[in-house]
Amino acid sequence: MSEAALAGIGMTSRRTRLRLQAQLQAAGIDHPKVLGLLRDMPRHLFVDTALASRAYDDVALPIGYGQTISRPSVVARMSQALLADGEPARVLEIGTGCGYQTAILSQLAGEVCSIERIEPLYRQARDRLVRMRFAGIRLHHGDGTLGWPQALDFDAILLTAAPVEVPPALLAQLAPGGRLIAPVHEGGAAQRLRKLVRTPQGYEYHDLGEVNFVPLLEGTQ
Ligand code: SAH
Repeated sequence: MSEAALAGIGMTSRRTRLRLQAQLQAAGIDHPKVLGLLRDMPRHLFVDTALASRAYDDVALPIGYGQTISRPSVVARMSQALLADGEPARVLEIGTGCGYQTAILSQLAGEVCSIERIEPLYRQARDRLVRMRFAGIRLHHGDGTLGWPQALDFDAILLTAAPVEVPPALLAQLAPGGRLIAPVHEGGAAQRLRKLVRTPQGYEYHDLGEVNFVPLLEGTQ
C-alpha cells in the first residue's frame, strides 16, 4: 500500500472524524476511550477503496463474501459494554471479518484472539493488521462455534455474528466473572444484543437493545 493510501488523503480530516464522533455520541456512546478510539481508527483502510468515502458514516458496508464491516456505533456499543467491568486481559472475538473491531479491541485489552470462518477474509485481515502494525492479536481460520483451539480462559468473548443460541463451547471458555456479548436471534428476524456474565451461581443476563448482524454459521469455507 502506498504512503498516500496509508495516510488516507481526505479521509483523515478532523472534520470527518469529529462528525463520526458526534454520530456516536448521538447514539449514546459516552465512554471517552471508546469515543477516541473509534474517532481515530482509519476505518477507510478496512474497506475497498471504492467505499472509502463512506467509511466515516455510521453504516455497515460490504467487505465481500456476503459479509459486512459492522457499524461504528455497534462496535462502540459492544466495546463500551465490554469495558463496563474494567479492561479485560484476554478477549476472544468470533467473526474477524475485515479486522476493524479486532483492531479496536487490541487497544482495549491485553491480548485479542479472533476467529474467522472464511479463509480469504482471514488472510486479508491478517495481512492488513500486520501492515498497520497492530500488536497483541492472534488470528485463526476456523469455526468459532467450537471456541479457541487451545483451551484458554477469556475475560471477555464477543460475537460479531448472530447465533440462534450461544454455542456451549464458548461458554466453556469464559473465565469466572467473565462476560460474553452476543447478538442473539429472538425468533423471526429480530435480534437483541445480550450480555452474559459468568457468576458463581450461573449466568446473569443483560439486554443491550436491538441489533442486526449477519448469522453465525457452522463450518469453514
Ligand atoms: N467485526 C467484523 C464483523 C464482520 S461480519 C468487522 O467489523 O469486520 C461477521 C463475520 O463473522 C463474518 O466475516 C463471518 O464470516 C464471520 N463468521 C460467521 N460465523 C462464524 C463462525 N462460526 N466462526 C468464525 N467466524 C464466523
